[in-house]
Amino acid sequence: MNNTFVLYLECSDCGKQYSTREVHTFCPDCQAALITHYDLTAARQHLDREAVRARPRGMWRWSELLPVDDPANYVSLGEGDTPVLSVPRLATGLGLEQLYLKDESSNPTGSFKARGLAAAISKAKELGIEKVIIPTAGNAGGAMAAYAARAGIRAHIFMPKDTPSANIKESRMAGADVVLVDGLISEAAGMAGVKAREEGWFDLSTFKEPYRLEGKKVMGYEIAEFFDYQQLPDVIIYPTGGGTGLVGIWKAIAELAELGWLETNNRPRMVAVQADGCAPVVKAFDEGKDFCDFWLNAQTMASGLRVPKSFADRIILSTIRESGGTAVSVGDEAIFAAQSEIAKQEGLFVAPEGAATLAALKELVAQKWVAPEERVLLLNTGSGLKYLDHMD
Ligand SMILES: *Cc1c(COP(=O)(O)O)cnc(C)c1O
Ligand SMILES: [Zn+2]
Repeated sequence: MNNTFVLYLECSDCGKQYSTREVHTFCPDCQAALITHYDLTAARQHLDREAVRARPRGMWRWSELLPVDDPANYVSLGEGDTPVLSVPRLATGLGLEQLYLKDESSNPTGSFKARGLAAAISKAKELGIEKVIIPTAGNAGGAMAAYAARAGIRAHIFMPKDTPSANIKESRMAGADVVLVDGLISEAAGMAGVKAREEGWFDLSTFKEPYRLEGKKVMGYEIAEFFDYQQLPDVIIYPTGGGTGLVGIWKAIAELAELGWLETNNRPRMVAVQADGCAPVVKAFDEGKDFCDFWLNAQTMASGLRVPKSFADRIILSTIRESGGTAVSVGDEAIFAAQSEIAKQEGLFVAPEGAATLAALKELVAQKWVAPEERVLLLNTGSGLKYLDHMD
């Protein structure tokens, strides 16, 4: 059964097309990410936004705009449809009128990585893949282990040995083979790449696999739907590691516009937040470069941001620029302070990555880059409960 308007994958660099019905990773000619394209003209005729709104909750209610052909292959643990919360006390403190936080901590495995891995593992199942491997800064490993277990797929994970212990334990609990690496996600990626080639395991690294982006883009659909497609946030602040969510939200908004569902021409300015101890996107953005330099000695307790160089650095930078956005880095001290403030003011125990967005917003307000009347959305990407060993 064919339940999607998916058409093909397209190289983000040379434009060459690849089939979604074969196993592909990235464009071998360009070493660049493959982006999924849909027949949005047909979708515009046959898909109704209010019908989608009325369906049972979860990521798969957007199935026609996801890459899996047969619903029998959906691997779901209840991901998606996280709340967009108004955070009025934080807003007042900043002198803002409209501040929102989309809280991804209620996803399975406690982070928004569930969205991407739900899509990737479902498509892997559809393509008959039996063994998967991932290098991870933490949450992606836990999510992959859970979805692979659910799908009956064998999971191999390479993660830094100082990854939060929750990530190591949840992965092993779900039956994944976990290798702890003396190094960062970049070293883990190198080792996983070798293993993938030697053993024929499918590599689910961010952007080296096309469909995690598709799962994460659904955040963009949900945000537009929350605002009834009539308005969007003026500014979206996103904690950026590999950049899947930032690129995905922007892709979703473009798709909604092509579907004719959006009733506003305003587009959010996309802000990438990184940590002072690992800020390759911020540096490249400030220097006007199209690519990031590899960040040496990356260090931050926001482990999801400890990514020295994203495979999709070019797409991240072009998304920020196209949207009129910016890139900001904040220190771990400011992240800690913001985490505590969000919990005390609004009752939300957010991940350090999510807290970084508030720390960045403070700087942007002080610089008057954000005006008091603008509508701002923060992304809390995970639960603070996964980082307890960083809290003593
Ligand atoms: C992975 C991760 C990020 C970074 O997400 P990308 O889409 O890779 O940029 C941010 N926050 C948390 C909690 C994460 O696990
Ligand atoms: Zn190419």
